[in-house]
Amino acid sequence: MAGTPAERDFVVIGGGILGLAVARELSIRWPDRGIAVLERESEVGTGQTGANSGVIHAGIYYKPGSLKARLCVTGARELYSYCERHSIPHERCGKLIIARHPGEVVRLDELERRGRENGVIGLRRLDADELKHVEPHARGVAALDSPFTGIVDFAAVARSMAAGLQDRGAEVVTSCGIEDVRVEEDQRVVLRHCQGETRAGFAVFCAGAAADRLAVKAGASPDPRIVPFKGTYMYLRPERSHLVKSLIYPVPDPSLPFLGVHLSRHIDGRVSLGPSALLWPRDVGDVLWPGTLRMARRWWRTGRAELRHALRKETFAAAAAHYVPELRPEDFEGGFSGVRAQAVGRDGRLVDDFVVSETPRALHVRNAPSPAATSALALARMICDRVEAEVA
Ligand SMILES: Cc1cc2nc3c(=O)[nH]c(=O)nc-3n(C[C@H](O)[C@H](O)[C@H](O)COP(=O)(O)OP(=O)(O)OC[C@H]3O[C@@H](n4cnc5c(N)ncnc54)[C@H](O)[C@@H]3O)c2cc1C
Repeated sequence: MAGTPAERDFVVIGGGILGLAVARELSIRWPDRGIAVLERESEVGTGQTGANSGVIHAGIYYKPGSLKARLCVTGARELYSYCERHSIPHERCGKLIIARHPGEVVRLDELERRGRENGVIGLRRLDADELKHVEPHARGVAALDSPFTGIVDFAAVARSMAAGLQDRGAEVVTSCGIEDVRVEEDQRVVLRHCQGETRAGFAVFCAGAAADRLAVKAGASPDPRIVPFKGTYMYLRPERSHLVKSLIYPVPDPSLPFLGVHLSRHIDGRVSLGPSALLWPRDVGDVLWPGTLRMARRWWRTGRAELRHALRKETFAAAAAHYVPELRPEDFEGGFSGVRAQAVGRDGRLVDDFVVSETPRALHVRNAPSPAATSALALARMICDRVEAEVA
């Protein structure tokens, strides 16, 4: 990887899929400008991008008209085409959202309505018998089938974007964590890091779990704050992985931004169960943030259930057996975890939509939870439209 530049026209902070997609879009729009990505870790794509469900979402869940709805539907299409052009393994394997009892069917109706309004391709309603044709070992009273949903390794997409950037003359610098930010009188953004300083004509911060801290250093409001949630997954033993053909999701709780514990086939063939959603504070400040305390008061029952999931394999596996009754706790082994960078407002609200805010000569991605990996190419375009308006 390249050495750290002293000065560039555009600097992107964070080498996750979003930062790299933004740098890619900048390099397409301004091929003659100097562009650098500065990433704290020794490799790109190791944050949320490297530890997630690996699902290319079709855009079903999101409130019509929201950024998530618009950018997920277009982003998924663009991502499939990016993967095809760059020979990145991916699969349109499809997904079932299963209602377990009649009480969930009303929520399934609402999901179907949202999906259709969002323009999701190919949605089909299935009854209890039809869903067995798609997932022979699954059970439920009804399901929503989304054949356009797929799987990919988002870290492989990130690595491919980094390679493409370098081919176009941009720099991707790793082991370069930004420690401080200031804006000079000549309107350059000065980024201090362990290797010195880099001055940027314009900076775009895509720092995931550090988004709020860097935004505050650049002069933005501390509200919303990132309150991380750890999501743990378990793997299904290879000899039992035939029980899940593609992706099996529950009908989510509409008041939570998370999609619930699901069974996912990954592009390497393994099947995972997860994630749990356990509050995973970075420091005591996250715990004492008024938003965290308000959120905890509101969601303590959900939090207790998540803790049980995290601590007891049996409880976690029982969640899977609701959908695939043949699954037993001993069918699961090993696993992995990822940390969601979820923004929480001072009022205790979990920020649902993508949020991009500004400080002088900089944009900050303040909330990019799922489906931001799916949406990265479309979200990057929206961010670069804002950069274009700022630098024009
Ligand atoms: C458990 C889980 C499951 C998910 N499942 C899905 C899914 O199936 N489909 C989907 O579309 N999305 C999913 N997501 C969401 C998706 O992973 C994220 O929305 C997406 O990866 C965000 O990309 P990013 O580049 O913004 O963040 P990240 O990948 O977290 O990248 C941020 C980068 O910034 C770097 N950084 C931080 N601080 C600094 C600093 N000071 N200086 C320099 N660099 C810094 C980090 O090292 C990191 O590489 C999931 C997320 C989680 C956690």
